[in-house]
Amino acid sequence: MNDVSGKADLHIHSNHSDGLARIPEIMDHVQEKTDLDVIAITDHNTMEGSLFAKSLEDMYDFEVVVGEEISSSSGHIIGLFIEEHVPAGLSVVETLNRINEQGGIAIIPHPFSSKGIFGPFGMGSLGSGISDLAFHALEVYNSMPFLVYANRAAAKMFAGGQGIAATGGSDAHVLRGVGKGFTVFRGKSAEDLRASIDRLETHAETGSGGLSIALRYAFRFPQIRRQQAFNWDRCKTAHN
Ligand SMILES: [Zn+2]
Ligand SMILES: [Zn+2]
Repeated sequence: MNDVSGKADLHIHSNHSDGLARIPEIMDHVQEKTDLDVIAITDHNTMEGSLFAKSLEDMYDFEVVVGEEISSSSGHIIGLFIEEHVPAGLSVVETLNRINEQGGIAIIPHPFSSKGIFGPFGMGSLGSGISDLAFHALEVYNSMPFLVYANRAAAKMFAGGQGIAATGGSDAHVLRGVGKGFTVFRGKSAEDLRASIDRLETHAETGSGGLSIALRYAFRFPQIRRQQAFNWDRCKTAHN
């Protein structure tokens, strides 16, 4: 049994969707400023940035998991360890199927935010029990500053024990946000992470600097909006 604990930020945006940082900047930042062992670039409805990051992986000491944040018809779903792009606009069940069919890991990010599949008021439009859905993990901590309530709801729901792994992600749209929310897993590698999610061993943690990150988002919000406009086809169903 592996006794080492690894850290993974499984929810990062780049300028391939509505993030402000370029992939090489994110890679350098992770290497120099964080102790993350694994990252996933999860841009809205494109694997482009993620594949680019993967192609640079050998130059760095951490591993990259390929994925994307897919806009299903009822909210966002993160697909990790995938090879084929999953189109936006499919139902939740169909989106999960497409991820599962290719052996990927499906994570429900910010489940109780306005763009989360359970919506801000709970189960929302989905109307189905959480256990009916074939996903692997619930993002119980998301470091976007305005999701305090949603994080609490997600953590509470998970505390009930649903046979679902708990993950944390930064949902970083700016460089300094990377690593502010992360998943702790057993081991150090991407494959260890995957096995740890399968065994429901992971948990979510938060980095320091919440207030300064909140301010940074406030200052950068117009730029993030412009970046959304620039990549509108990918981001039109993304965060508000
Ligand atoms: Zn999202
Ligand atoms: Zn996101």
